[in-house]
Amino acid sequence: MTLEKLQTKIKGYQSSMLEALEQLVNLESPSTDKPALDSYAQKLAARFETLGAEITLIPNPTSGPQLATTLRTPQNSSKKPGLLLCHYDTVWPLGTIEQQPFRVDGNKAYGPGAYDMKASHLMAEFALRGITEVGLQLPRPIVILFTSDEEIGSLTSRGIIEEHALQSKYVLVLEPPTAEGALKTARKGVGNFILQVKGRAAHAGSQPELGISAINELAHQILYLQNLADHEQGTTVNVGVIKGGTRSNVIAARAEAIIDVRAWTQQEAKRIENTMGSLQPVSPGVELEVQGGFNRPPMIRSEASADLFHEVQQIGAKLGLDLQEGSTGGGSDGNFTAALGVATLDGLGAMGDGAHASHEHILVSDLPVRTGLLAAILLEL
Ligand SMILES: [Zn+2]
Repeated sequence: MTLEKLQTKIKGYQSSMLEALEQLVNLESPSTDKPALDSYAQKLAARFETLGAEITLIPNPTSGPQLATTLRTPQNSSKKPGLLLCHYDTVWPLGTIEQQPFRVDGNKAYGPGAYDMKASHLMAEFALRGITEVGLQLPRPIVILFTSDEEIGSLTSRGIIEEHALQSKYVLVLEPPTAEGALKTARKGVGNFILQVKGRAAHAGSQPELGISAINELAHQILYLQNLADHEQGTTVNVGVIKGGTRSNVIAARAEAIIDVRAWTQQEAKRIENTMGSLQPVSPGVELEVQGGFNRPPMIRSEASADLFHEVQQIGAKLGLDLQEGSTGGGSDGNFTAALGVATLDGLGAMGDGAHASHEHILVSDLPVRTGLLAAILLEL
C-alpha cells in the first residue's frame, strides 16, 4: 500500500522532472571545463539542499568538485549507508547545446548529457523527494556521490569513490541500463595504451638506405596487436588512432598508435598488459615505447552483486517490472567498487539511447517508472 502511494507520488513528478532536466542539460558540464563543472556541482548541491541532505563538496584543483549528498535520520544513522554513484561530467564540449538544443519529441527527450547521465541526477533526487513527501523512513543513510571526471577515466574521483564504497552496504550505479532495459552486474575492464615508435629520418629519394621507417614498423605492430584480441574470451584490441611521419619524401622518424583494450577477466587484462610491456621491434634499429595500462579493472559478476540483482529483481516484480540481468563492454565507476568486493549493481539510470551520440535521448514515460523502482530499492534494501 505504501509502495503504491509512493509510485503514484512519483508519477506525479514527471513534468517537474522534465522541466528540471531541461535546466540541467542547458547547464553544460564537459569533463575538461573546470568552471562549467564547478557551476554544475553548485546547482546540484542547491537542489539537494532543499531535500535536507548534508552536502559535502570536496574541492578539486584540476576538475570539478566531488559532491557527496547524504540523507540520514537519527533512526538509521548507525546503519551502513547505501551508495549511489552518478557522474556529472559529459563528453559534450561547451556550445553543443546550440547545435543540439534540449527538445521533447513524442516520448523522447533529447539533449547532450540527458541520458548519460543528467536524468539520473533527477531520478536520485525525486526518488528521495517521493520517500520524504510520502513520509516514509529510509532503512539506512543514502549517500549520492556526484563525480566530475568519469568520462575521462575518473582519475581525480577514483579514490573518493573507493573510500565511500568500502563504507557502504551496497553500490547502485545510475548509468543507463542496456538497450533492452537490463541491469548490469558485469562490465569489461578498460585499458588504454600509447605505442611510440622511433625510427630514423632520411631523404626518401637520395639516401633511403640511411632511414628506418617508424611507419613501416608501426604497420607491423598494428597487425601484431590485432592478433592479441581473443574472440572467445571477449578480449578486444582496437588501434583507434595512428599518427606518424612529416612528408611523403621523408622516411618517417616517428609514429604513434593509441590503443583501446577491453577484457572480461583480470587474467586477460594482465596478459595484454604483459604483452604490451614487452613488444619487440621488427625492424633493426627501431625503438618502441609503451605507456598506459588498464585504468578500470573488469567488473566481475561476484556472488554479492548477483544477490543484489536478485533482491532488486524481486522489488521490481512488486512494481510489475520484469527486470533482467545484463552485461556490457563499456566501463563505469562500478568497475572500481565491484573490484573491492562491494555488492555493485549498475544500469539503474534512465531508459533511452544514444549515449555520446547526437541522438542522445531518454524515454519520458519510463522516467517515473525507473525513478519509482529506485525509490522502492532505497526503501527495501
Ligand atoms: Zn555515463
